[in-house]
This record gives sequence, C-alpha cells and structure tokens, in this order.
Amino acid sequence: MNYRRKIIAGNWKMHKTASESKTLVQDILTELKDWNDGDVVLCVPFTSLAIAGSILESQTIVELGAQNLHQAPQGAFTGEISAGMLRDLFVRYVIIGHSERRQYFRETNALINQKIKTAITSTLKPIVCYGETLQEREGNQWRSVLETQIKEGLANFTEAEMETVTLAYEPVWAIGTSKTASPAQAQEAHAFSRSILNQLFGKTVAEKTRIQYGGSVKPDNAQELLQQEDIDGALVGGASLEARSFATLVKKGCQPLS
Ligand code: PEP
Repeated sequence: MNYRRKIIAGNWKMHKTASESKTLVQDILTELKDWNDGDVVLCVPFTSLAIAGSILESQTIVELGAQNLHQAPQGAFTGEISAGMLRDLFVRYVIIGHSERRQYFRETNALINQKIKTAITSTLKPIVCYGETLQEREGNQWRSVLETQIKEGLANFTEAEMETVTLAYEPVWAIGTSKTASPAQAQEAHAFSRSILNQLFGKTVAEKTRIQYGGSVKPDNAQELLQQEDIDGALVGGASLEARSFATLVKKGCQPLS
C-alpha cells in the first residue's frame, strides 16, 4: 500500500439539468454521510455549478469540479468559461484534456498545457487526462503515446506547481464502452506514467502525484483496480450518475482487499 490518499471524481459530462443535479448532489451526500476515507469530487456541467456549489460549500465530504475551462483569464471568447468564473462558484477542481475534448474539440497537448497553467495560477486543481486509443494499444505504441501526452501536457511546470495536479490515465478504448483495462494492464500504464513523472520532476513529485484510472469503472471492479500499487483513484463517467452506485463505488474503491 502507498500513502497517497485516494481521489474519486465523477464526470457527469453533458448529463443532468440544474434541478436534476440538485437532487443528485443531495442524494450522493446522503449516501456518503460521514465519509472521510478518500477525496470525492463531482465534476458537474457548467449550468449546474451554481446550485451544486451552494449545496457543497457548507460541508467537506464532497468537493466541486468543472469539466473544462478556457485558458485566457477573460476576454472576447463567446461561449467560454474562465477560471475566475469557476472559482467564484466554489469550484476546486477542473478536468483538463479529457479524450472527448481532444477528439471532438481538437484539443492539443500544447493547449492542454496552457489550460493546466491557467488552472494552477487560479488555484484550481487540475485533473489532467491522457490515454491511448485502441489502435495505439493494439499497435503496442501506448508507451510512446502516454509519454508524449505527459511530457507535452506538463511541459515547463515546476515541482511546486505539480503539487495540486492529479493525473487521470484513461485508455480511450475503455471510456463508456464497458471494456475495462485489466488491473494488471492499468497498473503497468500507471507505473510507466510515474516513471515519466520521475524523469520530468524527480522522485518526490513522482511519488506524491495521484494518478486516477478512468474507463468503465463500476462498483464491482473499483476495488481490484484501486488496490493496484500505482492507482490512486478513479475518474468515473457512467457510474457517477446514480447516487447509490457512485457511493458504493467510492466506498469499495477506498477499501483494502481482504
Ligand atoms: C470518463 O468519462 O472519464 C469515463 C471514464 O467514463 P466511463 O466511466 O463511463 O467509462
């Protein structure tokens, strides 16, 4: 067992209206009453941040996250959301570089690097996603793909800046597909990612940085995945949209295998 505290984040993607979000946040808090064995973050749609923030600001069990931000502090960027706007709504975390943003919105490693910088400067904690496609996995290119994404995404950050960064290894072929990486496959990719952090920032950062696994994590596979030495939590899509299922996943994921 390592000493890193587990971190489990729900990514609601483009699901739930503000009023549906209010109910789901309240139900998750009820299910996780008195929970303190790991960090829990809910990354809700922009339109639900205000209502979720107003519920979450008075407690410490669940923290609020967003799913994206714009890299500029403000300006003529119609339809975009700044880090300052997120901070003002009690947002603490922000997902950056999700594969859906890379694929459908053409986000590059260079842009992701700028967004991470903006988040850190604004005291938002970035959850930085990276991962290979099925073709890259089958072509045995996954190591070089992960290495490039990590090195370019985290280029020019200091050790101090890395303190609030969480990584999320999400093999694209496992997201929303019900195909999960096996615990051994996921562990291998996480250990490899940590070795890249070691090259970039040294041992202390490599050992301290939390790396979540994401890709069809469910209540029944969370425990085995999260007990792997280098897996420090989960980024959860589908299974975070139902309170009981998400709370069960959180509890099982943070429980040692007996
Ligand atoms: C995700 O959206 O980051 C994700 C991992 O989704 P799912 O859990 O549904 O595969």
